[in-house]
Amino acid sequence: MTEVTASELVAIAEGRGAVAVGIADAAPFPEVTAELQARVDAGLSGGLGFTFRDPVRAGDVRATHPWARRFVAVAVPYPMTAPVGEGAVVARFAVGDAYASLRRCLTAVADRLRRAGHRAEAIADDAALVDRAVAVRAGVGWWGKSTMVLVPGLGPWVVLGAVVTDAALPTTEPMRRECGRCVACLPACPTGALVAPGVLDARRCLAAVLQRPGTIPVELRAAVGARLYGCDDCLVACPPGRRALARAAPVAAHDVIGILGADDRSLLVRFGHFYLPGRNLRTLRRNALVVAGNVLGRDRVAIVAGFLGYPDPLLRSHAAWAVGRIGGRVARAALRHALRSERDPGVRDEIESARGREVPVRAPAASTLPDMGSTSSGASTRDGAAGS
Ligand code: SF4
Ligand code: SF4
Repeated sequence: MTEVTASELVAIAEGRGAVAVGIADAAPFPEVTAELQARVDAGLSGGLGFTFRDPVRAGDVRATHPWARRFVAVAVPYPMTAPVGEGAVVARFAVGDAYASLRRCLTAVADRLRRAGHRAEAIADDAALVDRAVAVRAGVGWWGKSTMVLVPGLGPWVVLGAVVTDAALPTTEPMRRECGRCVACLPACPTGALVAPGVLDARRCLAAVLQRPGTIPVELRAAVGARLYGCDDCLVACPPGRRALARAAPVAAHDVIGILGADDRSLLVRFGHFYLPGRNLRTLRRNALVVAGNVLGRDRVAIVAGFLGYPDPLLRSHAAWAVGRIGGRVARAALRHALRSERDPGVRDEIESARGREVPVRAPAASTLPDMGSTSSGASTRDGAAGS
């Protein structure tokens, strides 16, 4: 057994790709628990589980790791990409498996701590803990008004994680930086989900909406645009991240028809690193149908209409919306035909409403979206919705 120093752990993390490393006390985050609870009470969690499921546990690692004394927090960047061509788009953190490299980095740190006789556990993409608050306390980055943690040189283009340990390591100071007068992320949001600096209404954040199971609210479907998974708009607008963004490599958008036609096995090979509860692909197919409604022309409507006979009513209802949005003679005939045999009242409503939509609507500006709730103040987290 060999003793381990903080600088050795930093070197190990940096050797595995970390761009920022810090050490924080593992004391609770009462302000985070209070903020999460306030947002749940105000309805701003949008039904998301993640840290909202148990705000006390999310703000206190000792609830699950009573021996915890320190966090070794890290930020790991992921390759910058720029989507090209027409089709479905995936947020940059999910183009590859950003969390795989983060886990490798954290595992190396945890292994070294254990070799020194300490308890240590890697926490990556564990929605039960507020990894952003840990990163800020450890000085890995600062809270942006977008609710993302911003890291010098990379801005929001990182994934965050930590090793929790019982080692009494020296702690590092929080960063003395903030966004200053910049507010670029707020108007950049296509749905107005950033309702105030640092306050996210998860009900209308597209990154959250596309992860959440169930029906995508009708009033948000046009704003989904070509997004299959995740949303990068507030990150793209963020000046501290622009240098990283300038190094983006082009990546072809996904063929949405190909996704709709693919079987489970091939979808899991391509998208198995997405957050898909129970490895169930219905949210991915639901998203693809909404994208199809937004991006496909009338010559492709028959393929989308095929989902009007799908066994899952969730997909039938989103298919009805997509077919209605694409519009045209074939769409009208398909909806009329589907209505004759449809028994599910919710799907029938969707078909009726799609039939009533003669002219496809375009994405509404944020200001035209309905007011979906009041705001609260203070820092907030996006909870797995945007990659860290
Ligand atoms: S991820 Fe997209 S929808 Fe969510 S706050 Fe950022 S810009 Fe808005
Ligand atoms: S866009 Fe500006 S205000 Fe928003 S997080 Fe980035 S630096 Fe902060």
